[in-house]
Amino acid sequence: MALATTIMGDTWPQLDALLISTLRNAERILCVSHVAPDGDAIGSLLGMGWILRAIGKNPTLALQDAPGEEFSFVPGYADIVGEAQVTAGYDLIVCLDASSPDRMGSIYRTADHVAIPLVVIDHHVTNTRFGHINWVEPGCAATCQMLIYLADAMQVPVTGPIAQALLTGLVTDTLGFRTSNTTARVMQAAMRLMDGGGNLVQIVDWTLRRTPFSIIKLWGEVLNQVQFKDGVIWVTISRAQRESAGVDDKESGGLANQLVTVVGADISATFNETVDTQGRAAVECSFRAKEGFDVSKVAFALGGGGHPPAAGCTIAGSLDEISKRVVAELHEARRIGTLMQTAEQKSRG
Ligand code: AMP
Ligand code: MN
Ligand code: MN
Repeated sequence: MALATTIMGDTWPQLDALLISTLRNAERILCVSHVAPDGDAIGSLLGMGWILRAIGKNPTLALQDAPGEEFSFVPGYADIVGEAQVTAGYDLIVCLDASSPDRMGSIYRTADHVAIPLVVIDHHVTNTRFGHINWVEPGCAATCQMLIYLADAMQVPVTGPIAQALLTGLVTDTLGFRTSNTTARVMQAAMRLMDGGGNLVQIVDWTLRRTPFSIIKLWGEVLNQVQFKDGVIWVTISRAQRESAGVDDKESGGLANQLVTVVGADISATFNETVDTQGRAAVECSFRAKEGFDVSKVAFALGGGGHPPAAGCTIAGSLDEISKRVVAELHEARRIGTLMQTAEQKSRG
C-alpha cells in the first residue's frame, strides 16, 4: 500500500469508504489486540470477529497472552488463538485497541506480516498511526464503542454476541460508566447494546465485582509500604511479594484505580517488577489521574501510551531505580496539571 490513510474525529460515523471496502474485500483476515488483554481488547477482538462473521468472513482472532477466565462468559472466548496458530497467509490484519505495533506482541511477526495491509482501529490519544488505514477516535470511551459505529456503517445489527462482546469493553474501559469520558453518547451506545441483548449485570459481576483472594493478600502486603507525597500516591510490587501472595506476573487487580481515589491524590501509580521480552529486569508501570491531570504524556514519553486519566509503560531497569525516576516525572505532570487548573480558574474570573 502506498499511502497511509488516517481517519479522524468528525468523519465518524460516516465511516471512510476505504475502511469498509477493505474489510468487505478481504478473505483471510487476522484480528489482533494488545498484550495483557483487558476487557476492551477482548471485547473488541471478539466483537470484530462476530461483525466479520455477519458479513460472511471467517477471521482468525489472536492474542499473545491468553485472556483471563473472568472473560470466559463473552461469546467466542474459546475461539481466541495464540501465537502458535498464527500463520503468514492473510490478506488483511485488523489491529484493535493497541496504540503502537509493539502492543500486538508476538502475534505480529514483521517477517511474515509486513507486506499485508494493516487496519488500525483504536481510541488511544497516543496512537502512533502505524497502519495503512488508521481509524483513531480518542473521543470514544472504548474501541468497542467505535465498533458499534462500524457495524452501523456495514449494516450489521448490534445484537446477540456482538452486543455482549461490545458491552464488555464499554463497561470495563469506563470502570462501569464512571470515568470522565462517559458522555451521553456512551450511555446511548450502552443502551443500544443492552437493547440488543447485552447483559450488563453479568458483565459487571464477572469483570468489576470479582477479586481473586490472592489479589487481596497482595494488596495487604504492598499497601503496608504505600507512599503519598505532593498529590502523587504509589506502590511498588516486587516479584517476591507477588509470589508470596500467589499472584500472576501481570496482575495487580487494578490497584492504581483504587489508589487514585485517595483524598488529596491527583495521580496514582503502581510499579510491578517483571522481565521484558529480552529477559531483562523491567518494571510495568500503571498510572491513573484525576480529572484535570494527564498521565498519557508521561507514559508516551517513556515508550508506553494510554489516555489522559489512565496510561502505562514498561521500562527496563530495577524496581527501585525506575520507580524513583518515574515518580519524579509524575510529580512534574501533577505540577503542570495544577498550574493549568489555576490558570483556567483565573481566566474564568
Ligand atoms: P493499565 O494500567 O495496564 O490498565 O493500562 C492503562 C491504559 O494504558 C490502557 O489504555 C493501556 O492500553 C495503556 N497502556 C498500559 N501499558 C501500556 C504500554 N506498555 N504501552 C502502551 N500503552 C499502555
Ligand atoms: Mn485495552
Ligand atoms: Mn480501550
